[in-house]
Amino acid sequence: MKLLLASNNKHKLKELLIILKNTNLSNIEIITPIILNSNIEVDETGSTFEENAKLKAIAFYNNFKIPTIADDSGLEIEALNNRPGVFSARYSGNYGDDKANRLKSLTDLANNTNRNAQFRTVICFYNGKDIVYFNGICKGQISNIEKGLNGFGYDSIFIPNNYTQTFAELDDNIKNKISHRAIAIEKFTFWLKSNNSSL
Ligand code: IMP
Repeated sequence: MKLLLASNNKHKLKELLIILKNTNLSNIEIITPIILNSNIEVDETGSTFEENAKLKAIAFYNNFKIPTIADDSGLEIEALNNRPGVFSARYSGNYGDDKANRLKSLTDLANNTNRNAQFRTVICFYNGKDIVYFNGICKGQISNIEKGLNGFGYDSIFIPNNYTQTFAELDDNIKNKISHRAIAIEKFTFWLKSNNSSL
């Protein structure tokens, strides 16, 4: 079976590829938009991670007719009523300005002592008939300042539970074992292994 990863975000793609490799999925050929020379851009007009993941999965599937998974994710900060949430990529107003998005989050939290937050990923699988969602959550705390150079997005202000360093300070291997994305992919591969023959 072929499986298309419907993301143009090179950081997310890199993580998805490593995580999928760690799951030892056999008989699956992973296809990326880069391999297909795709220039599909999907407007994330949904108001939930589920809606946006579904928009992306359907758009890529309809174009290439390859069973597809799409990931929509973001950071939910408890004291900010779970913002930035689906607006994570454009929280500061400029789409994709990670630095400005992190600074706005830190400024909005200011001296707030409630630093609870979670990263959330929703993966949507679509193969032309079945639509299935897989949810991954990684809980942690927002740091007081940015720390670390690894990763992307909000990694340098997020300290996962049971650790004292941000995702951007921790080794990539650790993030790829415990992250929201790893948890969602683990659920997806478990489901795929039990349903592969009927897809
Ligand atoms: P989208 O899923 O492509 O809409 O991306 C949402 C935004 O959430 C990204 O631009 C990142 O800023 C942020 N984000 C998603 N996943 C992660 C992650 O694993 N680490 C850090 N930031 C993330």
